[in-house]
Amino acid sequence: MNYSISSWSEFESHKDAVKENKRRIKWLEKSGENACWELASRLRECIEDQIECRSLACKVCNRNYREKMLSQLLCEIEASDQQWQMITLIDYEYACSNKGPKSFDLGRSKDNLRKAISRSHFEGPIFGCIEFDYHDDPKLWLPHYHLISTRTAANDCAYKKLKKFYKSKSAKHIRDGVIAKPTHRRDISEFIEGVSYPYKIMWRKVVSFETKHDKRTRKGTKKYALKGTQLCISLLKLDSISRRQIQFTYNLTKPIKGILVRDTRRRYW
Ligand SMILES: [Zn+2]
Repeated sequence: MNYSISSWSEFESHKDAVKENKRRIKWLEKSGENACWELASRLRECIEDQIECRSLACKVCNRNYREKMLSQLLCEIEASDQQWQMITLIDYEYACSNKGPKSFDLGRSKDNLRKAISRSHFEGPIFGCIEFDYHDDPKLWLPHYHLISTRTAANDCAYKKLKKFYKSKSAKHIRDGVIAKPTHRRDISEFIEGVSYPYKIMWRKVVSFETKHDKRTRKGTKKYALKGTQLCISLLKLDSISRRQIQFTYNLTKPIKGILVRDTRRRYW
């Protein structure tokens, strides 16, 4: 089967990506900072003069990459004839204020994760990306990983070990009175939706809510697109890292390695 990501109804169109870039340019220019102006002008060139900027802050370039990369990756995943899962790992202890994302040590974070995964005896391949969401209530950025792996008996066992480890190291939630859940796992039933999720590169704002109905209180969170200062912080951080740096990979098979780990200075799309 040949996957055509662009025909997936939830995949953003080129027009949507251009619209999002214009929104980003507006906020970057509004900030008045030199670095933001410079990034805004590259994003503008990308959409007006079709000069690919290849920045992780660019919705158009991210969309083009995702379309090409995922159509190849999904073929490999389907051909593997295995059950796949998505694991989310939240590093509550690395939550940071607005100044944090800029100095966040991505290499060290990935090294720590690689050690934890190795100690838990996971079977590869494992791949995905790191993401930062801005939590409006405590006003903190929360780094987390979305990872794709196979659902095997060995990985079920490994996940239990990893869950225990994360529970001990990341036990406290960033919001008072909320129980920390640093690990999540779910089976992937829809390949396109599940496998594309870690590669969306869209850092968002998380707002908590509480509703009362018939003496019952319902608590939850909603995610929104970032704007203003937080959008600029996320875009500058994304612009400073490469497509390879934002990814986490572990024990990849040769074909998946060929798709995911490329020299990003070379033309990909
Ligand atoms: Zn671009």
